Amino acid sequence: MDHELEAVFRSWVEKAEREWRVFDHNPELSELVYFRDVVPYKHLLRSFYVQNDVPICWGAGDCLTTPRSKCAAGKHDTCEEHKTTCFPCRAAAWEPLESRQKA
Ligand SMILES: [Zn+2]
Ligand SMILES: [Zn+2]
Repeated sequence: MDHELEAVFRSWVEKAEREWRVFDHNPELSELVYFRDVVPYKHLLRSFYVQNDVPICWGAGDCLTTPRSKCAAGKHDTCEEHKTTCFPCRAAAWEPLESRQKA
């Protein structure tokens, strides 16, 4: 893995998070800005890890914590925090609205 490039991507995430804190006083705007201005940098870093075969946490799409365990179903790498709220597992359990309406 190119550690210099990793450091650059990490510094972008940190910079984006620093700038995002300006919106702390406004929770609604803060959430919008988070997804618009911070998450893309996190996704970039996660994609970089995937390309380099570095395990990432699948518990949440914006988690950058190094996974140390598997999710409750034992299928996906997750960090401690996301063990029981694994995103792919929740997505798989999700039923389309149509089938729910029929039931
Ligand atoms: Zn996580
Ligand atoms: Zn899972």
